[in-house]
Amino acid sequence: MIVVMKQNFTPEQMAAAVRVMEEGGVKVMVSKGSETTILGAEGSAAGIDRNRLSSLPGVERVMRVSEPFKMANRKYHPDDTVLSLPGGREVGGSRLAVFAGPCSVESREQIVSVASQVRQAGACALRGGAFKPRTSPYSFQGMGTGGIRLLEEARAETGLPIVSEIMSTEDLDLFEEHVDIIQVGARNMQNFDLLKHMGRITKPVLLKRGMSSTIEEWLMSAEYILAAGNPRVILCERGIRTFETYTRNTLDLSAVLAVKRLSHLPVLVDPSHACGQAWMVERMAMAAVAAGADGLIIEVHNDPENALCDGPQSITPEAFQVLMRKLEPVAACVGRRI
Ligand code: PEP
Ligand code: MN
Repeated sequence: MIVVMKQNFTPEQMAAAVRVMEEGGVKVMVSKGSETTILGAEGSAAGIDRNRLSSLPGVERVMRVSEPFKMANRKYHPDDTVLSLPGGREVGGSRLAVFAGPCSVESREQIVSVASQVRQAGACALRGGAFKPRTSPYSFQGMGTGGIRLLEEARAETGLPIVSEIMSTEDLDLFEEHVDIIQVGARNMQNFDLLKHMGRITKPVLLKRGMSSTIEEWLMSAEYILAAGNPRVILCERGIRTFETYTRNTLDLSAVLAVKRLSHLPVLVDPSHACGQAWMVERMAMAAVAAGADGLIIEVHNDPENALCDGPQSITPEAFQVLMRKLEPVAACVGRRI
């Protein structure tokens, strides 16, 4: 349930409305938007005296929210959520947020050189996996804690905040202390225990869409994090499984539009994992920006042919620089900038 306050409500009138909602057994989320102030009930609204609430001075109207996601719902929070990142950049504002870097951290030299090149090209965060979710147990599993240390060295050299994927709650302390933006990968989108833990931290969480998840399931996973107390969720569309095998996944760009309508949370697009082929990344990145994505996450490798993970979909730092330039006019078309 949400309560829309009248234009000129007083603080006392709002406090009275909050009281009636709390007496009905819910916590209240206050969203002061550019046009309206909304009180959202967190939890079941069954115990709230709706007639009493509707008749309070200052209350414009009381509405039921039929979707199962509440705190992630745009009805609860009509304005776009804009998150600030360490380093001063934002996700969700008029400037696009582009995260870039290799699939996996492989060496100090590799991560530091890619970091400085993507920073120069305009990236606002460095991605790099240290704990990798690989289909085969015989594939490179990532450098683990050592990889996080190298990401920190790259951060120290470039000033870029670091994004890395957490796979286990065992690594929570490590990530909380050392990683700036914590990625929950597609394979863990419905690891509800991990999501609850992500809700207890204060770092931004990059929540990728599960490869076979509906938009509603994805938003419900975001809801787990929000409901547990962390409002800093960034969604990421990374392609879904379909019958098509030419591409690694099928990039669902309509999901960007759907999510921007259903939710206030920022949405990035990952064309690298969606397509699985480096030559497709540039055009799909442009398409994602045209579709209204708040930014991108792109795999960039100094030597894609010899990458230990996801080489075929990785672009070079030079190609990344070209891509960033080509995004400028597309961004301008949709009222954004790079
Ligand atoms: C990744 O970002 O390297 C990754 C494994 O992504 P996803 O979870 O989308 O497959
Ligand atoms: Mn990858």
